[in-house]
Amino acid sequence: MSDCVFCKIVAGQIPSTKVHEDELTLAFMDIGEVNPGHVLVAVKPHVDNIYGLDDTLAAAVFRTAARVARAVKKAYAPEGMTLYQANGAAAGQTVFHFHLHLVPRYAEDGLRLTWPVKNPPREQLEANAARLRAALE
Ligand code: AMP
Ligand code: ZN
Repeated sequence: MSDCVFCKIVAGQIPSTKVHEDELTLAFMDIGEVNPGHVLVAVKPHVDNIYGLDDTLAAAVFRTAARVARAVKKAYAPEGMTLYQANGAAAGQTVFHFHLHLVPRYAEDGLRLTWPVKNPPREQLEANAARLRAALE
């Protein structure tokens, strides 16, 4: 996509700070890092979000994520690691080219995700699961 910033990074048209590159994925430093070692793992072909990943791309992106996560752990020894991945503006996505954040974490690092737990009854969970099983392809 001609106006996609991550396509431009993949094509080398704008600079990035690369950590790892292979045929299908590119891992590079997030310019808006939350903590040192914050890396983005993007797929090379333009795919807007998770719904566009085929099995090959899905496997490739998680293989790279796991490998780079091990490197972040070795290099920074963070107390924790959050994987963050947003699909759609309502979910917080700002760059509409599939990518996964690897964010090294520390107890008081200020990163917050509000998690409004509902604890529905088991019957509701069963109904939700049935709806999803029927939708699986
Ligand atoms: P998201 O909100 O999940 O779509 O995340 C997009 C991320 O891309 C943000 O954390 C930005 O800091 C990061 N970002 C945007 N432009 C660039 C760029 N040119 N190089 C590296 N990271 C970028
Ligand atoms: Zn793109």
